[in-house]
Amino acid sequence: MIRAPTARVALLLVVAACGAGAMAAETATDTDTEAEAETETETETETETRPPSPSASRSIGGPNDGRLEGGVALPLEGPGFRFNPRRDPAARFGTAEVVAQLRAAAERAAGEVPFVINDLGYREGGPIPHHGSHRAGRDVDVLFAMRGPTGEPHPPVGAFFDPAGRGVDFRDLTDPTDDVPLTFDATRTWRLLEALIEGEDDAGAPLQRVFVVEHLRSALLATAARLDARRATRDRFAMISCQPGSPHDDHLHLRFFCAPKDIPRGCEDTAPHYPWRRRALEGLGLTMRRHRPRPDRPRAATVSAAEARAAAGPLHTEVRRWLDRREAWSEAPHPGRPWCR
Ligand SMILES: [Zn+2]
Repeated sequence: MIRAPTARVALLLVVAACGAGAMAAETATDTDTEAEAETETETETETETRPPSPSASRSIGGPNDGRLEGGVALPLEGPGFRFNPRRDPAARFGTAEVVAQLRAAAERAAGEVPFVINDLGYREGGPIPHHGSHRAGRDVDVLFAMRGPTGEPHPPVGAFFDPAGRGVDFRDLTDPTDDVPLTFDATRTWRLLEALIEGEDDAGAPLQRVFVVEHLRSALLATAARLDARRATRDRFAMISCQPGSPHDDHLHLRFFCAPKDIPRGCEDTAPHYPWRRRALEGLGLTMRRHRPRPDRPRAATVSAAEARAAAGPLHTEVRRWLDRREAWSEAPHPGRPWCR
């Protein structure tokens, strides 16, 4: 009989392998940082050791084969967020600009339950297990906001959500009696995205992409309209968000553009290269460096959903049913939208 912790870890691999198929398939881009990176000053009141200098980080190359110098640690917790205690704390380093934007957005959008941030990357970037990208300090995974069985805010977990916005925290995958039904909290998730988009500066290091399954992307857009969110914010989200080959039905993957200060120092942005971004850089006297992933880049160990499922051992019936249902939105193109590629 399989032990629960083994099963749990295996499902997390299914759930968290945002890199494998997804990032290999898309040739995206990356980086981001805030505008005045050189003069940026953080005012947080963390108890954690402060980074030596926010401007010291340097993202080099692209998200799929780059690296990072002077990586800044996301604190284990701060206003409105916590780094997922189930993830390797060595994987919480990003550019100064990305970390600052995440912290500011989480604080601005803070609700009853902290947002949970999963992997960024290593202090020096480079290959990282379970991800095809996350190598240059400009990629971040964030769990969705969610609600529990009675509608109360629920601490985010790596559960996938179906087109009706329903999910399950299966916990012990062999035990059907400990399952917790969840619902996708589109409002709270939108608030974080809205804070990220509205807190950015087109001439800084704005969000370049949000990887998320199409049915939740649609729910986020509908929610934003219902909340009467700013048109420009909704349009920006609609433009930059898409579903990659790995469906991202259990977390958001955020990618930021290169900070302007990093561009002359080797930071490269993969596609898409939006006109608004090019114009903002031109206003700074900069030209975007276009990146194409090198096919011979060192590969990190990744696990496909099928491999993880095979390794998970016994799964109770409802877990198996969920994994089967996921194939509908993992393997078939969703109507009306292109994949992220
Ligand atoms: Zn990711």
